[in-house]
Amino acid sequence: MRPLTALLCTIVLATGAWLTLTPTLAGTPTTSCEVTDQLAEHHGYDEWDRTVLGPDRRLPDDYEPPDLVSAAGANLDARFLIRRLVVDDLRRMRQAASAEGVRLEIGSAYRSAHAQASLRQATVRELGPRAAERLVARPGHSEHQLGTALDFSDTSGAHIWLATNASRFGFVRSYGSESRQCTDREDWHYRYLGVDTARAVVASGLAANDYLSRRHGEE
Ligand SMILES: [Zn+2]
Repeated sequence: MRPLTALLCTIVLATGAWLTLTPTLAGTPTTSCEVTDQLAEHHGYDEWDRTVLGPDRRLPDDYEPPDLVSAAGANLDARFLIRRLVVDDLRRMRQAASAEGVRLEIGSAYRSAHAQASLRQATVRELGPRAAERLVARPGHSEHQLGTALDFSDTSGAHIWLATNASRFGFVRSYGSESRQCTDREDWHYRYLGVDTARAVVASGLAANDYLSRRHGEE
């Protein structure tokens, strides 16, 4: 199996999420499920905590955060890259999880548009275009390109621990049970928004994208 496909299958199938996809619609979506290439309203490198991406929203073609560093700074797998601004809270979260016997492991972090394209193509080849549309964002549409999104393996109860604790460290699950109908639930995918915003998202009961759209006026 090709590495990229193995990665995807590790993320999707090993978690069992493929069998438990239960998207629901919470209120009226503020962004569309339509597949278009509209540029995200907030797409600057300093707007990482308000950028809304989805099937209809993308980053600029040349988007590559200037401050990518190894996840080793958070005592996690050095092969993965994240934005420097994520490191301190990620390290604290890893330490807090470890103190409770939960081992956090990264399955994916920053992905360039090129890497996203390769993953998408591999998924189309392995699982077909319909599955690819549901599982892997098109290049430019993935939160992984922000450098602030991480996939965590479900080792030693990590997903349950994260669901309860991640917001204390500034992370929110981007696609939970409250997600919009167009996005499958992903218990492994977290995005860093900073502690204040993460807590506000959780308190709102909204999906992260819906909260950010309403807060920052994405039309
Ligand atoms: Zn992800």
